[in-house]
Amino acid sequence: MSQLRAAAARGLRRSGGSAVPPAGQRRKGASPRGAPAPAPPPAQHLFSDPAEIEALRGNLLAWYDKCKRDLPWRTLVRVALAALIPALLPAVWVSEIMLQQTQVATVVDYYNRWMQKWPTLQALAQASLEEVNELWAGLGYYSRGKRLQEAARKVVSELAGQMPRTAEDLQKLLPGVGRYTAGAIASISYGQATGVVDGNVIRVLCRLRCIGADSSSPAVIDLLWDMANALVDRSRPGDFNQALMELGATVCVPKAPLCRECPVKQHCRAWRRKLFGKPTPVPDVEDCGVGGCPLCPPTTEPWDSSLGVTNFPRKAAKKQPRAARTATCVLERRGCHGTLEYLIVQRPSSGLLAGLWEFPSLPLAQGLQEEKQREVLADHLRAWTGQPVAAGGLRFVGEVVHIFSHIHQTYLVYSLPLDGDVTLDPALSPSRWVTEEEFHASAVSTAMKKVL
Ligand code: SF4
Repeated sequence: MSQLRAAAARGLRRSGGSAVPPAGQRRKGASPRGAPAPAPPPAQHLFSDPAEIEALRGNLLAWYDKCKRDLPWRTLVRVALAALIPALLPAVWVSEIMLQQTQVATVVDYYNRWMQKWPTLQALAQASLEEVNELWAGLGYYSRGKRLQEAARKVVSELAGQMPRTAEDLQKLLPGVGRYTAGAIASISYGQATGVVDGNVIRVLCRLRCIGADSSSPAVIDLLWDMANALVDRSRPGDFNQALMELGATVCVPKAPLCRECPVKQHCRAWRRKLFGKPTPVPDVEDCGVGGCPLCPPTTEPWDSSLGVTNFPRKAAKKQPRAARTATCVLERRGCHGTLEYLIVQRPSSGLLAGLWEFPSLPLAQGLQEEKQREVLADHLRAWTGQPVAAGGLRFVGEVVHIFSHIHQTYLVYSLPLDGDVTLDPALSPSRWVTEEEFHASAVSTAMKKVL
């Protein structure tokens, strides 16, 4: 446990579900055995008043009851919980996995189709990876769908069809279920009083407590988890967690938060700082904000009054995605009814876009000249089509750029019409000819749709 977290854990020490305040009442630097203890984070950055925690829970839940968005997974869970239908409870799991890295508006349609097709774990366990990829196509981060299906199979075959019910077991036993997803399922589906920390929660908590240290650092993330666990409402943990995330998604948004409408603004130190132009006066935090505080913005990037509450959270600069170039070729032929068909081939079953279908493609070495690109691509196509391909016959169509999370990918798109019959080599990875309609119904990535 980091020093910061150890100190914060003491600061958030709970009693009967509320935090108690040690930070402002303990002599700095003292420990029971006389050894120097790590300095606790200043109380400015913690929730140390049980009455305030109670008030925050009440205000947030009252707002959520009135203003929450009507989302399909919430309706399903309500129905399932009311009717005690455990088979439907994976509704939360599917939604949480889909919502990782993806906006609610995009997820809704995918979610509805998914739940219609596989309403229970048993149904999902019987699906093929191909079916999963087809439904997931366009949602991105494809390993999520694959792991969801693997986990469903595990629950059915190894856990007698019973979902684990605590955050600890969910994280330990199910592939693809990390700390956040485990907390969300356990609190929303099974009522465990455990917090969650996602991007929205990080933003809200950092603003509520003026945390300006790098919010992606392990020490700050650990501190926020402790805070979320201490704040979560003991009688309505699932609603509380959803309310905190909903607040971050709809009110405490990244660029222009709606502070005046915020149900917890009276607990928000960033808001008060914006109003009054200085940190809230809190006992025992005399050195906070003037250097040395592990949770304040670094002295090199102090509070900027023009940014107001959006001074928080702060993040270390993101690593630039690596640039990559791939040559891809749209091979076309006329099918038996004269319809245009395209050759698609399946990617390996692991790695980026595992198991998805694409036009025959070849990663290119840096700095390869255009003439050489054509030659290597022609060689590659020869292997797929089983017939000689002249580099000069490849028509360059243009470039398509697609940003994956960590790769800035440029596809150099070529096309090649083929005459006559082409025998595909079954010894190679699976390949097939598809019409445009079939192409769009296949498990192809968004990048390949752009290429077409
Ligand atoms: Fe966020 Fe503003 Fe509410 Fe503070 S007052 S939690 S900054 S929306």
